[in-house]
Amino acid sequence: MTRVAIIGGGIGGLTAANALSRAGIEVAVYEAAAELKEIGAGVALHANAMKVLRAIGVEDTVRKVAGRSEWSVMRNWKSGRVIGKTSRRRTAAAFGMESATVHRADLLDALAVAVPDGIVSLGKRCTQVLPDGDVAVARFADGSEIEADIIIGADGIHSAVRASLFGPDAPRFTGKICYRSVVSAAAVQGARPAHDNAQWFGPHGTIVLYPLRGEELINVVAHYDDDGYRHESWITECSGSEVLERYAGWHESVLRLFAAADTWYKWALYDRDPIPQWTRGRVTVLGDAAHPMLPYLGQGACQAIEDGAVLATALSAEAADPVTGLARYERTRRPRASQVVIAARERGQSNHLTSSWAAWRRDLSIAWRRRVHRRDPEGRGQAWLVDYDASSADVLAA
Ligand SMILES: Cc1cc2nc3c(=O)[nH]c(=O)nc-3n(C[C@H](O)[C@H](O)[C@H](O)COP(=O)(O)OP(=O)(O)OC[C@H]3O[C@@H](n4cnc5c(N)ncnc54)[C@H](O)[C@@H]3O)c2cc1C
Repeated sequence: MTRVAIIGGGIGGLTAANALSRAGIEVAVYEAAAELKEIGAGVALHANAMKVLRAIGVEDTVRKVAGRSEWSVMRNWKSGRVIGKTSRRRTAAAFGMESATVHRADLLDALAVAVPDGIVSLGKRCTQVLPDGDVAVARFADGSEIEADIIIGADGIHSAVRASLFGPDAPRFTGKICYRSVVSAAAVQGARPAHDNAQWFGPHGTIVLYPLRGEELINVVAHYDDDGYRHESWITECSGSEVLERYAGWHESVLRLFAAADTWYKWALYDRDPIPQWTRGRVTVLGDAAHPMLPYLGQGACQAIEDGAVLATALSAEAADPVTGLARYERTRRPRASQVVIAARERGQSNHLTSSWAAWRRDLSIAWRRRVHRRDPEGRGQAWLVDYDASSADVLAA
């Protein structure tokens, strides 16, 4: 039986572990942290990710902790004018599955509970992989090493496995930053905040809001053009007054929500071109290690989840030769994930338009698409992205 070792127990690594063990493949996960934990933030799981979560048996657990909302709404930053409003039920009907918004910690718990007991080793920071022998080898910072038929680098955006295979990457600063917080709805002064999935478009920025854990929490991701801040970290804090100053003049309901936030994080956005190769010998990469992307489509985790499903299908289909299985995994996944990386970059441009004429044309195009295309309920040409079932063997490249 093929033995697979996964480096990294994040969203991608644990999805892969679930999919592989359900396919009867022996799997072990090596995670650097001392416990399986996630940053305090939400994640949007579009229909494409939820189809995989259904296939690996965690959909129900995720739905129980998901945010409750009926509408996806796009609004003007200042007046609150509705640019587009779509029933989430209509989107679910178009793509055969309802999306969900969840706290990252809740998603990780759901994935961790579903993996077989004893397969995750904690405190194992991988420093190097050796891909080219009869077996693959991973070395860890504590001096230990393991062997497996196949090793998967699911160790995130600053992947040690990717660096070990292909050398350091070349991130480019985008000139955009992102503020994040999770706000308790009960802490907001005045009228209770709407629990829609909302996007607010303004000059130089976009704000994305959605509920988590029913209507208890509101996840905030607020993007802005800023050339001066270059620190790429998901966990660096900043002051609430900085955020309020930055969004001065935006709609009062947004500012009231912001004023109720306890903690803000500030994150500089770096862009990376799709890499031309994911696999060397018996080692490949998955998730952010393979295709780090800008957050504008909310697809980083969704694509990591797709990777896990396809990896299991490819290794099952090529059970006699796992190296051939890795080649099929990469042939299936790399073109699609690379396309998503590029599309996320383009969406960043279109969300932050500074010219009011260009913004007017964008809004008009959204309204037109929503009216004309039955399979484009939100008017942003997303069907190719979300109407995809990575858990189906049909997607596997020949
Ligand atoms: C604020 C924020 C909001 C986001 N919103 C969305 C969204 O709405 N929708 C969406 O689809 N995506 C979203 N994303 C992107 C998404 O979170 C990432 O794309 C996703 O987490 C990638 O999963 P991963 O498993 O590849 O990496 P990670 O989740 O980063 O997991 C990597 C794991 O590897 C471990 N690790 C790291 N180095 C080593 C090592 N050397 N050895 C062993 N283990 C190691 C880490 O501790 C971690 O557990 C968001 C990201 C952020 C930061």
